[in-house]
Amino acid sequence: MSSAVWHPFTQHALEPAMPSIARTGGAYLETADGRTILDAISSWWVITHGHRHPKIMAAIRHATETLDQVIFAGLSHEPAEQLASALVDMTPAGLDWVFYSDSGSTSVEVALKMALGFHRNNGAPRSRIVVMEHSYHGDTIGTMSVGARGVFNAAYEPLLFAVDTIPFPTAGHEQKTLDIFEQLTRGRGVAALIIEPLVLGAGGMLMYPAWVLAELKRIAEHSETLVIADEVMTGWGRTGTTFACEQAAIAPDILCTSKGLTGGSLPLAATLATDAIFRAHFSRDRARTFFHSSSYTANPIACAAALANIAIWKDDPVAERVAALSRMQADKVARFDKDPRFENVRATGTIAALDLRVGTAGYLAEVGPRLRAFFLERGLLIRPLGNVIYVLPPYCVTSDKLDQLYGTIDDAADLASDGI
Ligand SMILES: *Cc1c(COP(=O)(O)O)cnc(C)c1O
Repeated sequence: MSSAVWHPFTQHALEPAMPSIARTGGAYLETADGRTILDAISSWWVITHGHRHPKIMAAIRHATETLDQVIFAGLSHEPAEQLASALVDMTPAGLDWVFYSDSGSTSVEVALKMALGFHRNNGAPRSRIVVMEHSYHGDTIGTMSVGARGVFNAAYEPLLFAVDTIPFPTAGHEQKTLDIFEQLTRGRGVAALIIEPLVLGAGGMLMYPAWVLAELKRIAEHSETLVIADEVMTGWGRTGTTFACEQAAIAPDILCTSKGLTGGSLPLAATLATDAIFRAHFSRDRARTFFHSSSYTANPIACAAALANIAIWKDDPVAERVAALSRMQADKVARFDKDPRFENVRATGTIAALDLRVGTAGYLAEVGPRLRAFFLERGLLIRPLGNVIYVLPPYCVTSDKLDQLYGTIDDAADLASDGI
């Protein structure tokens, strides 16, 4: 059957035939021809509780009985109002304003625009953005500019704006990262630091300790540099707490959330900001307006799904489930700690990752797709980032299934070392 679909991050010249998914439920995907696949990456990190959670599906059905998209400039609606106050309650103190958009990338674009608007409207324009090495913040021109440069964005490089980069805080070298950040914030007009708290996702599931995040925030405060926490991936329990910033006991100036906001059911994003940032845009002068909108801003059905997600967090033992999964992940991945086929065996909250030792750099590019095919044949959806194998499952995954999964990773490593 021919297809007109151009898939994301897909080299169609190399991709084998793609299974078609006909049904989802819990931790599983079912193909049209009846195969069951364990969604070990939560469908690109969006599904939190599980696919088609009954309470979220019911809330969506219910919402469609009264509302669909409503223009969000000049009008409001109950689902957006309720969700905003719930988000203000759940996020670190001081984040008092909620700006809606529809994807992680747009939530980051909004954050960057808020940061520049803040300084400009306060009469001291700043435009430099500091980013961390290996970061990922999205695939639009603006978000690629603040993310790691590489083969993924080489073609667009001429359009990307310049940023200052601090090194990733590898174990034992954290002080270097902090020192470089401190130097950069001295008199260079740095508007903001944008950072993925605790875990850098697409950059290879790189993990760093909470105290580094706390120190970065402290340094930023000295120079009135805003801190933008991109919690698009880390939010909603992924790192063990509802938001990763909680572990550093910091309140960022701006927080971006998307992926798990609706439990992964519908696209929605929110950028939360402090009152100071809102006040900088609050004026009788129309030129100070925050000029941003997406057509689908605060879609009421998506807001209803997010409210159902929050109700699940409040009414069900989600924190306990996340804690139990975090313990399981740490225990199970530890079997590879001293395994010579792997290095950097690590876990933060519900996320576990390990790097397959590979010989040549050329082989490195090939190993990801080969492993992906190997796992898929065995009913597992795992998408290695190069030689980084990571497991980021929905919270309803069972211990037995995880055991099976780590057994398959063990088999895959043998094949890889034989040069599959
Ligand atoms: C996925 C991701 C984004 C981009 O989100 P989209 O919804 O794909 O636009 C931004 N930041 C982080 C940390 C992400 O993991």
